[in-house]
Amino acid sequence: MTRMQTSTVSAAPGGSGVLASLDEQQRAAVLAARGPVCILAGAGTGKTRTITHRIAHGILTGAVPAGQLLAVTFTQRAAGEMRGRLRDLGVDGVQARTFHAAALRQLRYFWPRLVGGELPAVVDRKATLVAQALSRHRQRTDRATVRDVTGELEWAKACMVAPERYGAEAARSGRETPLPAEVIAAVCTTYEEIKQAAGFIDFDDLLLIMAAGIEAHRDVAEEIRARYRHFVVDEYQDVNPLQQRLLDAWLGERDDLCVVGDASQTIYTFNGASPAYLVGFARRYPAATVVRLERDYRSTPQVVDLANTVIAGARGVMAGARLRLVGQRPAGPPPVLEEYDSEPAEAAAVAQACRRLAEAGTDPGQIAVLFRTNAQSAAYEQALADAEVPYLVRGSERFFDRPEVRRALVLLRGAARSDSDSGGVADLPAAVAAVLSSAGFSPGAPPAGGAAREQWEGLAALVRLAEETPAAPMEEFVAELAQRAQHQHAPPVRGVTLTSLHGAKGLEWDAVFIVGLTDGMLPISFASTDEQIEEERRLLYVGITRAREQLQLSWALSRTAEGRRGRRPSRFLDGLIAPSTDASGGRGAGAGRRERRGVPTCRVCGVTLFDAKQRKLGRCGGCPGDVDEDLFERLREWRLVRSRDKGVPAYVVFTDATLTAIAERRPDTADGLAQIGGIGPHKLDEYGAEVLELLRQATIR
Ligand code: ATP
Ligand code: MG
Repeated sequence: MTRMQTSTVSAAPGGSGVLASLDEQQRAAVLAARGPVCILAGAGTGKTRTITHRIAHGILTGAVPAGQLLAVTFTQRAAGEMRGRLRDLGVDGVQARTFHAAALRQLRYFWPRLVGGELPAVVDRKATLVAQALSRHRQRTDRATVRDVTGELEWAKACMVAPERYGAEAARSGRETPLPAEVIAAVCTTYEEIKQAAGFIDFDDLLLIMAAGIEAHRDVAEEIRARYRHFVVDEYQDVNPLQQRLLDAWLGERDDLCVVGDASQTIYTFNGASPAYLVGFARRYPAATVVRLERDYRSTPQVVDLANTVIAGARGVMAGARLRLVGQRPAGPPPVLEEYDSEPAEAAAVAQACRRLAEAGTDPGQIAVLFRTNAQSAAYEQALADAEVPYLVRGSERFFDRPEVRRALVLLRGAARSDSDSGGVADLPAAVAAVLSSAGFSPGAPPAGGAAREQWEGLAALVRLAEETPAAPMEEFVAELAQRAQHQHAPPVRGVTLTSLHGAKGLEWDAVFIVGLTDGMLPISFASTDEQIEEERRLLYVGITRAREQLQLSWALSRTAEGRRGRRPSRFLDGLIAPSTDASGGRGAGAGRRERRGVPTCRVCGVTLFDAKQRKLGRCGGCPGDVDEDLFERLREWRLVRSRDKGVPAYVVFTDATLTAIAERRPDTADGLAQIGGIGPHKLDEYGAEVLELLRQATIR
């Protein structure tokens, strides 16, 4: 769904074809001898592409047996993306999993030896257990408290902080604890007791037990290290101490490890993740090959400029780690910043925009709507259903677990058996469609939105897959499906993706809508420390850098159509939004879009301007200026006199960039002058008349 590269390198003997589609730096990373290797690079520069090619190259040249390699990442979607890309490169049999999925698989195998008996079930309603623990300590169990305390519990576990050390460590890390530290520590202990008594383990236990098992049991360590000899970690900036401990346990004394990441995309520090492992990799492994990539192959220069501008505002520890991206793609449309009266109006307008894109030929699978919290999803599901645009909430990662898909596989297996008895089918897609009709498939799609359509889309994805090999026998198709199911390689399901910004990590779409960008939603209201707010900024950066071509950022002034329009756009958009052109401010009934707030563009070539200096000039650095040097000098002389009069440095009167802009644009009215950045009402009052007079004289001369 989110992949666009479809390489056929598998045909190239020895993996030489793998190298052809990489740039020089990427190739260097692929060819670097066995690890340690570290790729430090910004969004869209081809990190995932480089590691998947590195894996493919190692396997196709015979240097690395596929079964000995373990590739890990952080979300199921990203792991699915990696598997898909490897498959496109003609490589099967590599395990690409999340840390949790890898640990679960290993633990299932080692549990009888480590603990005995069956692996307990993984708790899926953690909040219920946390609420029980809270109530045993006579604490409130409202949603916010449960959410915040669960966050603390997860943080403590990810950082391997025992309850008795929670208070000290939380203070040392500058965490604002939602309840007194000693209460949280007691709740942590009770939560563990309740969980154990109920016979559950949680996700973090998987990592903890597996790491401790390897550390304490020599035979387990030897077996697992004999099995896996090469390790790759994508999105390494988001590794937490517990995951790092498991990685260290897998590695033992060895160092065949390749990590890639971008500190500017660190979005899980609330959960204990730390970019310090990525940034400090070369210190830890002095022999490491370190590769830096700068070219952004994913997004248009317009999207790249916006991303650079948003991350340029980063403060704090991560500010020094940011990498400036250089866009490689042809120019595209400027990103749009849009304000709406209400959330329903925003959702309806975004759904209509998706519909227009789809009608104009964009595959809905190449469109995404991204939001900060999952609670925002429902409004967009409804709006897309109303606009009759197919969408996907669940994503494709659990495709083979969907009931309709499982049923379809059973039916297809049955058909394959009777087919091979009767000598095979002539037209695979028709045969698949016929078999699936009893699972609910019909040639025409049911109306978009709702469960029926989502089920239909799942079955339609199978039929489309059959269309790729129309002459294949049913038996072969079923074997292909079984293999895909084993590797969780879902076929592309058509539909607009609805997902959180966290869930969008590592993925890309042609068109991206980031919605609900009000202050309080991004940064989210419970982000209070500077570090938490910076993490929210990085989340926006991650969202922006998902777009290949079209990008819209939007927000609504009120939650409901009737509500007070008291919200303001995200502070991360400050300085990007041109002043409002809607002076009326009236709340027109049914008025969806209040105004269009464009990002300023170059008056010569039309490219979007994000750089403050360029915006002042009203043109980009690449376009020729038409500054009147003589006029500029006269303005400078005037500025010198004024600054001396006032006893202030010259730039306090006007900066050079403002003077250049005046000399280039030569406004002839106060309004025109006010359009120039750096000339606010106060300066207009104080100097406006003099500057206009100077300009008038220059015109006469
Ligand atoms: P993120 O930080 O978001 O995870 P990334 O660095 O992993 O991004 P990729 O997803 O690997 O970037 O690549 C971004 C896009 O650019 C992909 O569509 C990829 O196929 C394309 N791409 C990367 N390198 C090249 C290249 N050398 N030539 C052409 N396209 C490329
Ligand atoms: Mg990536």
